[in-house]
Amino acid sequence: MNAPVDLKELSLAELEEVLTTWGQPRFRARQLLKWVYKGVSDFGEMTDISRTFREELYSRARLSALTLTARQESRDGTQKFRWLLEDGGSIESVLIPEADHSTLCLSSQVGCALGCRFCLTALQGLTRNLKVAEIVNQVLAVRPYAPGDKPLTNLVFMGMGEPLANFDNVVQAIRQIQAPWGLNFSKRRVTVSTAGLAPLIPRLGAEVPVNLTVSLNAVDDATRSLIMPVTQRYPIKELLDACRSFPLPRHRRITFGYVLLAGVNDDLAMAKELTRLLAGFPAKVNLISFNPLAELPFAAPDLDRVLRFQEIIRLAHFPVFIRESRGQDIAAACGQLASGWAE
Ligand code: SF4
Repeated sequence: MNAPVDLKELSLAELEEVLTTWGQPRFRARQLLKWVYKGVSDFGEMTDISRTFREELYSRARLSALTLTARQESRDGTQKFRWLLEDGGSIESVLIPEADHSTLCLSSQVGCALGCRFCLTALQGLTRNLKVAEIVNQVLAVRPYAPGDKPLTNLVFMGMGEPLANFDNVVQAIRQIQAPWGLNFSKRRVTVSTAGLAPLIPRLGAEVPVNLTVSLNAVDDATRSLIMPVTQRYPIKELLDACRSFPLPRHRRITFGYVLLAGVNDDLAMAKELTRLLAGFPAKVNLISFNPLAELPFAAPDLDRVLRFQEIIRLAHFPVFIRESRGQDIAAACGQLASGWAE
């Protein structure tokens, strides 16, 4: 007997194929997936499926799930979740309430290999890529925790890991997340954030309709290499050329993230250079003041510096926002995942 098939690993077409080999009609695939993405945890809850087929499902298929091992809620309503994976690994997801909806920050790997110096996840190194079902399961598991007046509508791949380093599984998970037979998220509300695996950027856009955020953080290769070693493989010019090849829908912009580290990348001449690099580009800039952490050798610039940096970018007519650090008191903010659990 083959190992049971995890239904959350499959697309509609793949499940139809599997059902055919089991001697079942293809239409059962939609019937099954409707229950899967409603979030049922047991085949017994699939009430419009015959009892005989449900019995068969117990031996042929399974519904994987994440085990919640910790949840913390910040003063600002941000919730951080830690999940135990079936092989004993653990990952985190963060739910951020906004004015009328919630955004979920998803992990794509256990740890990360890219070694960005301002990021705590980097200190773990990479254990492995997440499976498709482990990505999809973060959405299913967190969805019930969104406040009733702020439903979960937006997803950002900005948690642990570099999503493009787990390309195939992230793409497949996004397909399941956006499909009408799946989680049915709007194409405009799924964002992938990359540290800059340049060749995969246009490929991502060709595979799935998503928003793109690039974690830029410096305007010259020497500085960027110091804080993001990936720059040695893909220098800034190559990264920006790749962004130019990203198939951007009309009236949409690529977001460039810039974590400000005092004395490292917050010189005002660097703000000026940033506007030169992005000239003619449909770009938006998110400035994030570094969240100081004992384990990391950086400090946050003072607010005046952040505001002056912003002003230079604004005067060059780019939309530029200072992102508040949500959930800082529970270490759920940018770069803080993998730390700060009060055990
Ligand atoms: S910032 Fe992102 S890409 Fe860089 S080490 Fe951390 S998780 Fe990896």
